[in-house]
Amino acid sequence: PTMREVDLNDLVREVASLSEQRARYGNIEVELDLGEGLPSLEGSPSELQQVLLNLVNNAIDAMGTRGGKVRVRTAYENEGIRLSVEDNGEGIPKANISRIFDPFFTTKPVGKGTGLGLSIIYGIVKKMGGEISVESEQNVGTTFHVRFPVPGRKG
Ligand code: ADP
Ligand code: MG
Repeated sequence: PTMREVDLNDLVREVASLSEQRARYGNIEVELDLGEGLPSLEGSPSELQQVLLNLVNNAIDAMGTRGGKVRVRTAYENEGIRLSVEDNGEGIPKANISRIFDPFFTTKPVGKGTGLGLSIIYGIVKKMGGEISVESEQNVGTTFHVRFPVPGRKG
């Protein structure tokens, strides 16, 4: 894929607007908390868009019928860019946490989930030298944390 200088905040705004209809339909508020002065990332825009879209779609999928809130945050910290996607959805049972990044692991009905989203995200983030982790509590919510290194910017 073509590598470019990517403004992560622009991409977040783009993905938020792509998800707007789905969110509104599910009574879900998508809140953006975008850090200022983020350096650009060296990466593939379409791959980074996949990362964001998959995380936001998973967050939306995790909401029950009451709706909820998804918060996407970015920040520049310790020579890296942090991205988090937080939801107050159903959460992930402890027994599943170690499996969610495995290809084809899904708890969604046939036709609704392929179980590939997180394994693809994992591959993209790792390829960029980044890290991804998850924090989740059942019936409270889930937060995915991603950290991208920003090379050539040493403090
Ligand atoms: P899919 O969305 O097709 O099921 P993913 O790889 O994106 O595949 O996710 C794998 C599984 O991880 C999901 O089926 C779900 O069980 C769990 N999961 C991922 N994100 C969330 C989330 N935000 N809240 C609750 N469960 C999640
Ligand atoms: Mg998914």
